[in-house]
Amino acid sequence: MAKIIVIGAGIGGMAAAARLARAGHQVSIYEGSDRTGGKCRTEWIGDYAFDTGPSLLTLPAIYRDLFLKTGKRIEHILKLEPVDPAFNYHFADGKSLTFPNLALNKVYDEIEKSLDSKTADEWHRLMQRAERMWDVARGPFVEAELESIPNLMKRKNFLSDIKIISPLTSLRKLTGQYTQSPYLSKIVDRYATYSGSDPRKAPAVLLTIAFIESSFGAWHIQGGIGALSTALEDRVKTLGVQIHLNSEVTQIRNDGSKVLGITTAWGEEVDADIVVANADADLVYNKLLSSELKVAKSERRKLQRSEKSLAGFSLLLGLDNSKLSTPAPKLNHHNIYFPEDYDQEFNEIFDLKRPVSDPTIYICAPNDPLMVKSENKEAWFVLVNAPRHEPQGGWDWSNNPQRYAQKLIAKLDALGLEVSSRLDVMEFRTPLDLQNSVSAPGGSIYGTSSNSARSAFLRASNRSPLRNLYCVGGSAHPGGGLPLVGISAEIVADAIGKA
Ligand SMILES: Cc1cc2nc3c(=O)[nH]c(=O)nc-3n(C[C@H](O)[C@H](O)[C@H](O)COP(=O)(O)OP(=O)(O)OC[C@H]3O[C@@H](n4cnc5c(N)ncnc54)[C@H](O)[C@@H]3O)c2cc1C
Repeated sequence: MAKIIVIGAGIGGMAAAARLARAGHQVSIYEGSDRTGGKCRTEWIGDYAFDTGPSLLTLPAIYRDLFLKTGKRIEHILKLEPVDPAFNYHFADGKSLTFPNLALNKVYDEIEKSLDSKTADEWHRLMQRAERMWDVARGPFVEAELESIPNLMKRKNFLSDIKIISPLTSLRKLTGQYTQSPYLSKIVDRYATYSGSDPRKAPAVLLTIAFIESSFGAWHIQGGIGALSTALEDRVKTLGVQIHLNSEVTQIRNDGSKVLGITTAWGEEVDADIVVANADADLVYNKLLSSELKVAKSERRKLQRSEKSLAGFSLLLGLDNSKLSTPAPKLNHHNIYFPEDYDQEFNEIFDLKRPVSDPTIYICAPNDPLMVKSENKEAWFVLVNAPRHEPQGGWDWSNNPQRYAQKLIAKLDALGLEVSSRLDVMEFRTPLDLQNSVSAPGGSIYGTSSNSARSAFLRASNRSPLRNLYCVGGSAHPGGGLPLVGISAEIVADAIGKA
């Protein structure tokens, strides 16, 4: 039995802690903020509850497995609900497309109805390619520690697998090989943003996200996805894990080759056999470990070469429909409003580094009675992609964010969504807020982006070259988003089991 310290009580940190405690280790978590869950959180403001982090759960099997293997099944604790339809897409020319949930054939029918059968066929073939990519990529690139390129090259079927994955083709280019539809192209492009990336640079294999979402479904958790954080906190406590809140870790102590423990901001030194870092890898290698540490040099160099994920600007809108004299516009759960020029969004975020002038707008409008206190009310979480907070050489988000919030509300009104006339509560969250609340550098949503063919190899490895240090969570392999973060926890727990 090892004494293990987990730095950070995000989903990845708690998921790893649960698995490790269940395996018999003595685990404690040191969390810098005053709560658990990290980015995954449901916030109440007045009569309205908002998922201010994840608002869409995909691949729930990852968390079913976690809860099952660490105690009671998830179904005894949380009510997981498929969201139907999964998505409503609206385009600048007035066209819209509805994607039903968990029914590939119905998606086909919807595309045929709203566009034509040729485009529906193209979607079908895209999803077939995505499925083949998932079959090939899942094992070596997602579910296991990432091997080096020379080792991957030794794998059986390497050449045929490479043909399917097309590592040097961008997501945008791959889509173009299947369809010229500007509608499908935008829908596929958007999946690059699920890893904080630009579809023109992100590798084609991100098409697998579209397949995963349509095959395994889009899910909600009753009461808000933040309930996952609460359930995980309960689970780790039940397993005997000690959680220390308001306990920022300022140093990972080591003897130059292996971990010795941590030091907290209060100067407390705690010894450990193993440290699992759920803090962003950038902080781990550039702040918590000394820049003199030779064994960490290769990881530090990798992180320097990676590009950071995009950030997000969100509005939390409490809407009181009793203020309207006519029926309120009806939205489904997940709604996307694309702008005319989607490329300009990525130019502004990654190159010009300024707030997007005409952004794609995502509105999460859950039809969940547990997220409002009266039936006349609606709680909308509105998210647009944004450049990171970078006061030097980028955008400084302390610079009049109210103006941007007002601009977005005007845009929502212009879309006919009647926001101003029924607005009861309005708050916003900038990338700087995310940086301050959960130590996400620059407010990046997903750690590093996948903006190049080698991006997977530039993420922090789960097993650090500093012996007995492991990295878990969105900035480590295999990347950000709830499913991957849950997988990273499993990889780390397995790696420690085998250490
Ligand atoms: C606006 C937004 C929307 C999103 N939407 C989705 C979505 O719809 N679906 C989806 O799957 N994912 C989504 N995500 C991504 C998802 O939330 C994250 O990938 C996931 O929650 C990250 O988990 P993590 O384990 O990496 O930890 P984090 O949530 O990053 O938590 C890390 C924790 O470590 C703590 N910490 C950091 N440094 C220290 C230190 N030095 N000492 C002690 N503690 C420290 C932090 O306070 C924090 O609690 C979204 C994220 C955001 C912000």
